[in-house]
Amino acid sequence: MPRSNNKMLITLLNIPGVKVVGNTKAHLKELILTIEAEKQEAICPRCHHKSQHLHQNHTYLIKDLPWNEKQVFLKINRRQFKCQCCSKPFSEELEYVASRRKYTYRLAEQVVREVLNGDLLNVAARYDLKESDATNVVFCGQAKNSTAIN
Ligand SMILES: [Zn+2]
Repeated sequence: MPRSNNKMLITLLNIPGVKVVGNTKAHLKELILTIEAEKQEAICPRCHHKSQHLHQNHTYLIKDLPWNEKQVFLKINRRQFKCQCCSKPFSEELEYVASRRKYTYRLAEQVVREVLNGDLLNVAARYDLKESDATNVVFCGQAKNSTAIN
């Protein structure tokens, strides 16, 4: 893929510290982007020393926010480094996905937001509440002491 296209993809993707590498696969309903960390080192969680000593690569797919009608998957590499200070291997922390999760933080946030908003609107309609009142019920308490609804 030409360099300029990669740059555009990196800008669109908008995850700091990663670059889009290799082939981007676009299917009818999905897009797969292979991404890689820009930095070549990670911090050991035990002794907090930097390590550049790559031990193993762990490549897998995670789901990200959709682009238009396409589901987006990121092929990521959570590298395992070997700490040369304490001699233990460790997996790097990634800013955009929790360990052992198969979806990005931002996808999880979006899902939660949409579920809350969707339910909130339904509940507000059912009890004939203003959306702001329904929001108060959820976020400001629901017991006797609540002054959310008068
Ligand atoms: Zn260490």
